[in-house]
Parts: sequence; structure tokens; C-alpha cells
Amino acid sequence: MSEDTIFHKIIRREIPAEVVYEDEHLIAFRDIAPQAPVHVLFVPKETLATLNDLPDDRPEIVGRLAVAAARYAKAQGLAEKGYRIVMNCNPDAGQTVYQLHLHLLAGAPLGRFGTPG
Ligand code: 5GP
Repeated sequence: MSEDTIFHKIIRREIPAEVVYEDEHLIAFRDIAPQAPVHVLFVPKETLATLNDLPDDRPEIVGRLAVAAARYAKAQGLAEKGYRIVMNCNPDAGQTVYQLHLHLLAGAPLGRFGTPG
């Protein structure tokens, strides 16, 4: 498994990022090309290229990302109005960075999603 994605470099502080949260399991930082007024990426420190690589006996890896995203949304006053979390898996979903991550999008009404093309 590659440990050389851009997100690994951010975790290792080899390239800068606007980090908004970090603990022993995960890091969260602002997306460089935000698709909403608030666009934060939650990334596990454990190397996993896609959701397909999540071991059956390790659901907590994704659970921690979801809990951290919801906690962040609440702390930022975004939870009441709402937000979206997204995980893109492989090319048809548009995944571009092959280290598992969860997008938190918020801060404005969001368009619909999931249509082909
Ligand atoms: P994906 O398309 O793989 O689901 O999402 C990858 C996300 O990473 C994209 O939204 C993209 O804008 C973001 N991204 C790519 N390179 C960088 C970077 O160097 N720094 C930050 N903060 N975000 C990045």
C-alpha cells in the first residue's frame, strides 16, 4: 500500500495544510479546492487507499472519521442547518487521492448529487 500520497505528506507535515483537528487516529484539514463554504477532509493516519480496503473487523476507522466530522460541524455551528459527508471510492466516484478520506461539506444549501456524468 502506498504511503506516498499527498495526504501522507500532510500527516507527516512535509507539506502545509490548514489543519483544524488532529488526534492519534486522524487528521482534518481544509480542502485546497473547496466545493462549499466549508470543505474539510478527515483522513485516518492508518494507510488505506479506498473504502474497499477497510478491513471487516475495523469499522472504527470510518466511525472515527464520521464522529470527528459531526463533532466539528457542531462546534462550528453548522450542524443545525446541515452538512454532507462524502467518501469517493475509485474512478467512477471521482476519487483522486488514494488515501481514504471523508469530505465534510457545509455552509450553504448544497446541490443534488449522484447523477452520472
Ligand atoms: P477525492 O476526489 O479523492 O475524493 O478528494 C480529494 C480532495 O483532496 C479534493 O477535493 C482535492 O481538492 C483535495 N486536495 C488535493 N490535493 C490537496 C492538497 O495538497 N491539499 C489539500 N488541503 N487538499 C488537497
